[in-house]
Amino acid sequence: MKHYDAIVIGAGVGGLASALLLAHSGKRVALFEKRLQPGGRIGSSQRDGFTVDFGVHLISRGPKGPLIGLLDRCEVDHGIEFTKVRPVQSTGGETFKFPQDLKGRVPDADFEAVIKMVTDVKGMSDEETSDYDGQTLEEFLNAYTTDPFVHACVSQIGFIYCCIPEYLLSAGEFARCLKWESEAHASGYPSGGCVSILGAYLKGLEQHGAEVRFGAPVEKVVVEEGRAVGVVVGGEEHRADMIVSNAGLKETVDGLVGPEHFDEGYVEDVRGLEISFVSIIARFALDTVISPEIKMLSGFSSTPVREYNDRLMAGEVPEELNSFIVVPSSFDPSVAPEGKQLVMMTTAVPAGIEEEHCPAILEALIDLAEKSFPGLREHALFVEKVFPSDAARIMGEDGAGIGIAQQAGQAGVDRPRVKTPLEGLFVVGAEAGGSGVGTELAANSAIEFFDTYVA
Ligand SMILES: Cc1cc2nc3c(=O)[nH]c(=O)nc-3n(C[C@H](O)[C@H](O)[C@H](O)COP(=O)(O)OP(=O)(O)OC[C@H]3O[C@@H](n4cnc5c(N)ncnc54)[C@H](O)[C@@H]3O)c2cc1C
Repeated sequence: MKHYDAIVIGAGVGGLASALLLAHSGKRVALFEKRLQPGGRIGSSQRDGFTVDFGVHLISRGPKGPLIGLLDRCEVDHGIEFTKVRPVQSTGGETFKFPQDLKGRVPDADFEAVIKMVTDVKGMSDEETSDYDGQTLEEFLNAYTTDPFVHACVSQIGFIYCCIPEYLLSAGEFARCLKWESEAHASGYPSGGCVSILGAYLKGLEQHGAEVRFGAPVEKVVVEEGRAVGVVVGGEEHRADMIVSNAGLKETVDGLVGPEHFDEGYVEDVRGLEISFVSIIARFALDTVISPEIKMLSGFSSTPVREYNDRLMAGEVPEELNSFIVVPSSFDPSVAPEGKQLVMMTTAVPAGIEEEHCPAILEALIDLAEKSFPGLREHALFVEKVFPSDAARIMGEDGAGIGIAQQAGQAGVDRPRVKTPLEGLFVVGAEAGGSGVGTELAANSAIEFFDTYVA
């Protein structure tokens, strides 16, 4: 039986980042990943010369964010560069920039109110943003303006950050995402696609002597005398002083460890946590370049946000979908063969939506994309369609885009803690601790774990 200082379960961003920090500090680390490749929700695959990211395309704060900062901190030579990008917003077929181009679209007083909201948020300290953790973005914005168009527009920005609408999203979390992003002014797409980030983490783990095993699902966490002391993989037991799980909070507590090792109140709290919205995705590999100038489009419906989601749940397809269209090959031509284009599109729907409603939503999304990419369907070499059930199979949690939702009451000061009540057990990733956009949230969770409990 092998003994390590730390065992990490899962090679998503949270697990890779935790393992790297631990290994860099001289700890003996083993990382077990159930799939054959790293990355979890940030994973990539190769197909017919295309590098196809599962989903991620916008790394908040790019080289200035924690994902890259952590590589630098752990002395990993990575050479990753970023193409800076801000999504172009559009609605009703017209594109505009937020917030300046809201002028003329909404009454002057509402325009001034949005500018004031953005200025107030940018002026907040991180501590001050926490005052709004328990308030929704909708409530926060209502103090400035109730204009429905402004709400739809701001909600879509919050959606891109956290994959939940304004009536759920924590205003404090929204404020941090907006503030950090605008201070750094560096969000972007990594050279070589997300796979280059994963490659750099694996290189760092090797450099610092961590053992990494793929195709190695952890079956259970071993608990002795009220303490997590090891894991079982392939029927074999491995021991460590600390177990760091990136396998999801609910799955870790209810599945890998077992509820009997926690007090009832904690188990109930964990079971009651809400996950973010789930994604419906289409990826088109094209035999030609249709619209070379387009990099990233964020479209939103002017239908009030609640009504929009209620309609989706009822099986209706809104006339205009909220959409996020990304063309990775416009950032980095190396992700597609020469003269070809990779176009990815996604729309988010509430978790728990009936699966039978989803194909019509996806076709409407593709119709929408065809307006910017005429001939999209005819030029497809291959198309990958991902429905919530597919995403759930790959990622768990009903296919949640982020993980535990950053909604009011579950974000910032109210986020589940990385240290669980079971001695020796920690949970990292977009599930516990941290703040920020998707991958940034997961990396920050790992940093919080390491700096608070190890360093
Ligand atoms: C379509 C889509 C688009 C997105 N776009 C963006 C974006 O543009 N920008 C952004 O920053 N974020 C984006 N995100 C969100 C971001 O990808 C996630 O929030 C983040 O990657 C979550 O990382 P994580 O470490 O929490 O866990 P995960 O990525 O879920 O990783 C968990 C890992 O644990 C492994 N695992 C689970 N159980 C076990 C077990 N028993 N044994 C061993 N291993 C196990 C899994 O296989 C997985 O590899 C997007 C997500 C989706 C789905």
